Amino acid sequence: MTPALLHRLLLAVADDVIAHADELTALDQAIGDGDHGVNMKRGFETVRAEAESTAGKPLPEALKAVGTQLVLKVGGASGPLYGTLFLALGKEIAPDGANLAAAFAKAVEAVQARGKSHPGQKTMLDVLTPVERALAEGGADLPRRLPKVADAAAEATIPMLATRGRASFLGERSVGHMDPGARSSALIVASVCRVLEGANLG
Ligand code: ADP
Ligand code: MG
Repeated sequence: MTPALLHRLLLAVADDVIAHADELTALDQAIGDGDHGVNMKRGFETVRAEAESTAGKPLPEALKAVGTQLVLKVGGASGPLYGTLFLALGKEIAPDGANLAAAFAKAVEAVQARGKSHPGQKTMLDVLTPVERALAEGGADLPRRLPKVADAAAEATIPMLATRGRASFLGERSVGHMDPGARSSALIVASVCRVLEGANLG
């Protein structure tokens, strides 16, 4: 992981999240309070603004820096949860990123602990957990496979009943809509994979 590649990753994720803010807002309008797009846009505008200095850090420190930026700027339920994901990933990952699958598993565990939640409750965990499994399986085609896994997992939240987060207040009326946090997680996975595939690291 070079600073140049890390910089491209940070900009790609930030640009994609910002570009999809209206879609995330619309999803959150259906089963939440309609702020997920604005929350994520605010956070990733900071990630974008700080990208150059973040990319100059070793990988663990860079991920922790992103986690801190998200905790401070995103707000809502998703800010602390995405913040925890990146902070824990930074804490667990080796400087060369070689233990990504194991570090990601620990990070998803940290999100569950923070959210007092588990997969099956129609949250971001319903994307993060299948991504964790695919990462553990490994394989040279991961950058091509992971976005498909993440997209399918986000789609699979549509028929789910929400039992955690704001959407759970709707009970049965949460059924039939994609979870906003599941969608934003799939977006982030797709951005990372697109850059890595282009960088021929897959
Ligand atoms: P808020 O719900 O406070 O308005 P956001 O709209 O930014 O915050 O984020 C909502 C998303 O956060 C949900 O779509 C869901 O994916 C995720 N989420 C909320 N609560 C939890 C939780 N306890 N565990 C895991 N994910 C959660
Ligand atoms: Mg919301």
